[in-house]
Amino acid sequence: MALSTRIRISIVNFASLFYFKKKSKVIFYHDIHSDKKYTEMSTPIEVFKNHIQIILENGYEIVAEITKPIGQIEICFDDAFLGLFKNIELIKKLKIPIQLFVISSYINKKNHINKQQLLEFNYDSLFTISSHTKSHKILNDISEEEIRGELKDSKHELESLLGCEVSSICFPEGAFNNRVVQIANSLNYKKQYSCIPGFYFNQVFPSVIGRSLVQFANKTEFESILKGGDHILSFWYKYKYYKK
Ligand SMILES: [Zn+2]
Repeated sequence: MALSTRIRISIVNFASLFYFKKKSKVIFYHDIHSDKKYTEMSTPIEVFKNHIQIILENGYEIVAEITKPIGQIEICFDDAFLGLFKNIELIKKLKIPIQLFVISSYINKKNHINKQQLLEFNYDSLFTISSHTKSHKILNDISEEEIRGELKDSKHELESLLGCEVSSICFPEGAFNNRVVQIANSLNYKKQYSCIPGFYFNQVFPSVIGRSLVQFANKTEFESILKGGDHILSFWYKYKYYKK
């Protein structure tokens, strides 16, 4: 493990000692795998199962949508890689709601779910399908017209495929600025998810929800992140992801 990673984890573990309330928050992964990995960002299924056990043992409830300031965890998966679909039976067995952020132009692409699999997810009430833009462009780097296209086209494509409203979006690589937020609001994306850690009801920016990446967290780090230990680094994440 790189020294910078070890230092980051130590800071997160230490900071978590100062949080006593179990405030509700969103955590996210990219994929899970039992044998074949579809992305280097994938979490081994045993690690994922341990995380779920820790969440439940600590008295949190896993929900599709957070409604209470205390005690609820929402789980998201980004990019719609194939591993989650291959392990759909595990998710059904665990009965955990999952929000899946889909890049609309990646449907049917190698290592990603196809249209049929997307429909199967949508058919199951455990899964909520949301937008992760049309082609995963970094929204801070493109023109206003392109941002609008990325957000509008993915919403339209997903809604016509699924036959239901898509009202949440996650910004690719967590990058956003005021213009991105304005456009997302104008397109009626009621919830916008970032990669800046934060509790659900302490929005990192108006209309933007914080999330914590937990895909490689061991037991101690995962418990620290649940408590909010990673929030101490949010100034650094804001610097990295948010541009005026
Ligand atoms: Zn992504």
